[in-house]
Amino acid sequence: MRLLNLWLTRNWFPLALQIFNFFVFVLLIVGGLAANTAGPEAVKFLRNTNMANLIVWSYWWPLITISAVFMGRVWCMVCPMEMLTSLSSRIGLRITPPAFFRSGWVITGFYMLILFVGIHTLAIHRIPDRMAVYLILLMNAALLSGLLFSRNAFCAHICPVGHLLGLYARLAPFGWGVRSRAVCAACNDKSCIAAKTAYHLQGRSCGVGLYPARLDQNTECLLCGQCLKACDRNNPGLAGRPNPGWYKRPWFKDLMELVPFTFAQAAFSLAVSGFVIYEVFTEWPTTAELLLRLPSTIVRTLNTQGIWTDGLITSITLFVALPSLIWFMPFALFRLAGGRLKLNDYLLRFGIVLIPIMAAAHVIKALLKMTSRLPYWPHALHDPSGEETARQLAQGAVKLYSLPAWVDPALTIFFLLLMAVAIGWSLKAMKKLIAVHIPRSTWPCRLLYLLPICYGGGFILMLSRWRLF
Ligand code: SF4
Ligand code: SF4
Repeated sequence: MRLLNLWLTRNWFPLALQIFNFFVFVLLIVGGLAANTAGPEAVKFLRNTNMANLIVWSYWWPLITISAVFMGRVWCMVCPMEMLTSLSSRIGLRITPPAFFRSGWVITGFYMLILFVGIHTLAIHRIPDRMAVYLILLMNAALLSGLLFSRNAFCAHICPVGHLLGLYARLAPFGWGVRSRAVCAACNDKSCIAAKTAYHLQGRSCGVGLYPARLDQNTECLLCGQCLKACDRNNPGLAGRPNPGWYKRPWFKDLMELVPFTFAQAAFSLAVSGFVIYEVFTEWPTTAELLLRLPSTIVRTLNTQGIWTDGLITSITLFVALPSLIWFMPFALFRLAGGRLKLNDYLLRFGIVLIPIMAAAHVIKALLKMTSRLPYWPHALHDPSGEETARQLAQGAVKLYSLPAWVDPALTIFFLLLMAVAIGWSLKAMKKLIAVHIPRSTWPCRLLYLLPICYGGGFILMLSRWRLF
């Protein structure tokens, strides 16, 4: 950790990694566009045989999700979008983002757009050239927002990836902060937030509007290290500088400090809670069929035709209706039993208990993906566009190698333990929430425990039935 904080004082770090990742992004775009997705049979395999698609959805995305749970927003530290938006804002119009942008609803809306249109309608996770277009759009959004808005508007108010990582970063045992608040109190230049350093190439004041001395949560900090550089370079000789850095902190800190959601974050988390059910439950054909039965029945009943309406109906059912049922059912029972709690308080304060379970489900999906796609690697290395391999797989002309027999049981044990730990922390957070927000709590409060029990229990049941029996 000391080494990382030392590297962050240097010009080359993390800039060199951002530049490297920028070129990787360009290669992934080229690799995605290079795949011809015309063959109807082969296209089913192309998602795993095209190397670019394989890397983006089966390794890059799963790995950054896992990293957020254990280390916070480290991906943002090396993200090329951060570099693009920061650089373009130096020559742009520098307009202050409007209040609507700052409310968080743009991020939530963007996430819904990716889920509803990107994933469920256009299948950007399955079709390599559409994945490439998605990456191009992301890069353009970063560039354009940098050219239009002041500071780092893309990372602060637009990027749903960083927002999701920020959600899980609430659990991480590392966080950004200062070593000594007294040093900041004695500091006159406040270079970490000063307007005069806002557009410096290196050592600029915080682009997402944070003041390191008051930073106590992981949600918004990009770990970019610019405040550390600013503090270091403008040091008038005050001992203890550079003061900001990446430090250890207790696991689940933000969760146990009961940091509430905003409305936009609650809506975002509700959709994520539905998305992770979809991600894990569709791994097993039995639960996939069960989960998708309702949206397909609605589609059939309405007799809609076309991918747009079907995708929309499926998305609303899975990412709005189903999670809403899970979120609101315990609250409705609690109120029916005479409990007193405002709906807003429930949504914003109690919704946070699901974060560990969502994070565990995301980690489970990530590991399932990363391990199950290992057999595709020898083929992807040999044929990066994946077209020929996809054709051969469709014709049964090649076989994928099998993973060692111990992998599946080891993963199953890990998944069940992980989910049990997540449910335990959710229950612990719920206990604290009830003690803090429902004074003189009576028996109906126990109904609120149904929220983590039903949600997490659903995953345990599904995983046990699928992997053990
Ligand atoms: S982080 Fe550094 S620049 Fe910012 S207030 Fe503290 S000592 Fe001053
Ligand atoms: S607080 Fe520092 S490390 Fe965090 S986003 Fe702001 S400048 Fe970057």
